[in-house]
Amino acid sequence: MANNQFSDWTKVIKSTTKPDPATGAINPPIQLSSTFEQRDFDHFGKWDYSRSGNPTRDVLEASIATLEHGTRGFAFATGMAAISTALLTLNQGDHVILTKNVYGGTFRLVTQVLVKYGIEYTFVDLGDEAALKQAFQSNTKVVYIETPSNPTLQVTNIADVAQIAHAHGALAFVDNTFMTPILQKPLDLGADLVLHSGTKFLAGHSDILAGLIVTKDQDLGDQVYFLQNAMGATLGVSDCWLLLRGIKTLAVRMEKESANALALATWLEQQPLVTKVNYPGLSDSPDYPVQSKQAASGGAVLSFDIGSEDNVRKLVELVKIPVFSVSLGAVESILSYPPKMSHAEMNPAERHARGITDGLLRYSVGLEDVEDLKADLKQAFEQIK
Ligand SMILES: *Cc1c(COP(=O)(O)O)cnc(C)c1O
Repeated sequence: MANNQFSDWTKVIKSTTKPDPATGAINPPIQLSSTFEQRDFDHFGKWDYSRSGNPTRDVLEASIATLEHGTRGFAFATGMAAISTALLTLNQGDHVILTKNVYGGTFRLVTQVLVKYGIEYTFVDLGDEAALKQAFQSNTKVVYIETPSNPTLQVTNIADVAQIAHAHGALAFVDNTFMTPILQKPLDLGADLVLHSGTKFLAGHSDILAGLIVTKDQDLGDQVYFLQNAMGATLGVSDCWLLLRGIKTLAVRMEKESANALALATWLEQQPLVTKVNYPGLSDSPDYPVQSKQAASGGAVLSFDIGSEDNVRKLVELVKIPVFSVSLGAVESILSYPPKMSHAEMNPAERHARGITDGLLRYSVGLEDVEDLKADLKQAFEQIK
């Protein structure tokens, strides 16, 4: 695409603002049509039925492919629809290695759904090279990465893991939801396929659910296209349009929210009530060297520990700015409590082993004034101690 000559800041605008040839309208129309008239009995046009392709969805799919430096993009009804479609490129008897800190929905998909179809799995700490190498079997086809991880923000070296995967004849898939292509481009680092929950930063406004896939090469793209059409979990056109709207401000949101997150993380480290801050953008974080090599910033999500569930309960009642809810990546700050939310189904021992302690809160930092965010936490901390 000609857009590749531009920087991301230009691309988020150019790839989403596509004048309609019929009218000159500068935004792609929301093509609410399930079917397309074929004017020639022998030669059908580009579109025939919207599950197989739709003009509004095409603009979105081309936009995300351009931003991720891939060859093809695909839009799905949710992030989980994208992830299940990507993993169904595997066949019965194949094996996938996944990061042990994988998103809960992906964990459930692999351990309770794909296993029914004979797809085997192993969870490993992808930071442990020896353990990773040991996990390969003759039938290993994919290594599945998610970085930084949720909610402890552990970083995986994408280039190293992709190289090890390729040396063992496997592909590398990366869930890039937390970073977005503005901050991190996994395909440039050697990955073969990128996944997104478009629900989060790409849409950016806590309004729609969406999922995306981008493939590096045409062949894997053909496989994903076949499955997208065969399984049919495509994104509706109105939501495609809203996602295009969200992407237009992606660069400015990621830059500002990352700066807010770094300022908040730095401040949190100095608070007596806070026993730990997880944020890979902090220069004293063990993850900082890899993060600063492969990503433009630490992103907009951090987590911190305030010692006990009791303290968390008080804090949640005392803060006035962030909404207390699941999800992340929106214009508004979102505070969540992983032990009762994203990781509620995990037993306490397993949770603690992953650093998800009873005092841990995840903070997805929004576009509010960071001084207000600090003051809000400060007044809450003062009432707790
Ligand atoms: C939210 C999320 C998903 C799942 O996306 P949905 O749109 O909720 O289906 C997958 N991976 C990560 C990292 C997420 O945060």
